[in-house]
Amino acid sequence: MLSELTPLIRLQGIDLEIRKINKKKEKLPERLKALQERVADKEAAIEEKRVKIRELRKRKIEIEDELELETERMKKSQQKMSAVQNQREYQALNKEIEEIKKANKTREDELIELLEEIKNLEDAVAEGERELQADSKEAEAEEKRIRQAEADLEKKIDELRREGEGVASEVRPDILAKYRFLAEKRQGLVVAAVTDAVCSACNMNIPPQMYNELLREERMMTCPSCQRLIYALKTEI
Ligand SMILES: [Zn+2]
Repeated sequence: MLSELTPLIRLQGIDLEIRKINKKKEKLPERLKALQERVADKEAAIEEKRVKIRELRKRKIEIEDELELETERMKKSQQKMSAVQNQREYQALNKEIEEIKKANKTREDELIELLEEIKNLEDAVAEGERELQADSKEAEAEEKRIRQAEADLEKKIDELRREGEGVASEVRPDILAKYRFLAEKRQGLVVAAVTDAVCSACNMNIPPQMYNELLREERMMTCPSCQRLIYALKTEI
């Protein structure tokens, strides 16, 4: 292999490692995002139940007021009973009292249902809040874990960058510029081995004449298909 390629391959190894670590870093917040979404969903569900509870309580007060008023009206009618003069008056009053009783019974039934519904919703809110607290705690712990992991990865990247700078200083500036240019375009894979006249990066054939030249290792050469810097990896028989 050309001696100029040796530091480039080392530099490529370092740069690829940095790319890998950066990808890992980008993926770190994924679980946190899912946890935060779960927290937001639960908060919304709890709020929805609270709104419903408020509506039901309002309805409960309305029915209680009606009950009170109607009971009062019934009492008055009952008092009038003692003073009725004739059968017709008696019947009319009696009918009125029975109707109030019937309507009040319906109100009482609705009240019982309302109270039960409110109780169920309050239980669900309490349960939801317990779950929410646990999820929030988990999200908080995850956030802390991510911050630590990010700091660790940053440190590793810094170390690799410094190492890479050292290696890069051994490379001829024009070759380094070519390397950097290709690294951008080829996702970091710039130097490729050629085995049996096939480029290991793009899997295309190197023409025979060119391959023979490559085997002689006299000058820096690039793959005609992917333009990467190539070197012959001689297979031992
Ligand atoms: Zn190639």
